[in-house]
Amino acid sequence: MTLQWIVIRVYRDMSIAGNIERVREIIAEAAEKSGRTADDVLLLAVTKLHSPEEMNEAIDAGATDVGENKVQEVLEKYDKVRPVRWHLIGHLQTNKVKQIIDKVVMIHSVDSLHLAREIDKRAEQAGLDMDILIQTDPAAQETKFGVDPADLSGLIRDIAAECSHVKVRGLMCIAPFCEDPEDTRPFFREVKKIFDRCREEFDGEDNVEMKYLSMGMTNDFRIAVEEGSNLVRVGTAIFGYRDYRKEEK
Ligand SMILES: *Cc1c(COP(=O)(O)O)cnc(C)c1O
Repeated sequence: MTLQWIVIRVYRDMSIAGNIERVREIIAEAAEKSGRTADDVLLLAVTKLHSPEEMNEAIDAGATDVGENKVQEVLEKYDKVRPVRWHLIGHLQTNKVKQIIDKVVMIHSVDSLHLAREIDKRAEQAGLDMDILIQTDPAAQETKFGVDPADLSGLIRDIAAECSHVKVRGLMCIAPFCEDPEDTRPFFREVKKIFDRCREEFDGEDNVEMKYLSMGMTNDFRIAVEEGSNLVRVGTAIFGYRDYRKEEK
């Protein structure tokens, strides 16, 4: 029996509102361990493959921010969901930026200057500035996206210099999946170090304010917050399992 499964079994019979409350309790405990409070950590409800009805239920229960992986899904659900702050957390192709530029408040998954330039261009056309996070991956996982920590500082510098309608607001990462969430701790600790280094380096610079460290998902958000995350992206613990068959429709 995996830990992931135990976590989900605990949540299974609760309502979305009950799940959010439980997740907030865990965040509060973990934040306290790292000398902060629950208010210092933003909970992003990850709603991919969940219905607008379920999303509205979460919003009624106090969810202020929702995260989606795919542009298409944002577009399909956008008008059916009550006003809320939408975040794009999945990999974004440049040709889709135009479609979501006025719908999301933050893009978590920027990993190239090329993508930042496109966001800048579309943001300018839409008359707005877009907050972004740079996705990094110190574990260099082959299947995932993310900037090598060694290239991070140069990328942020280039974006800040070239893309005046893009505001770099921090870092995002996806930890390698571990059966025992405790095993993700060194990864999160490493990303926190990188985050602090960037924060120091870019302190006071135009177009950069290293405010958010987006790390932690259902399996590992407790550990991530203990290690300094201030933005967790939680789906399964709030909404239950996702039905991936819906993706094929
Ligand atoms: C799906 C997803 C999440 C949420 O995952 P859960 O394990 O369901 O909490 C968080 N971040 C990203 C980038 C995701 O794609």
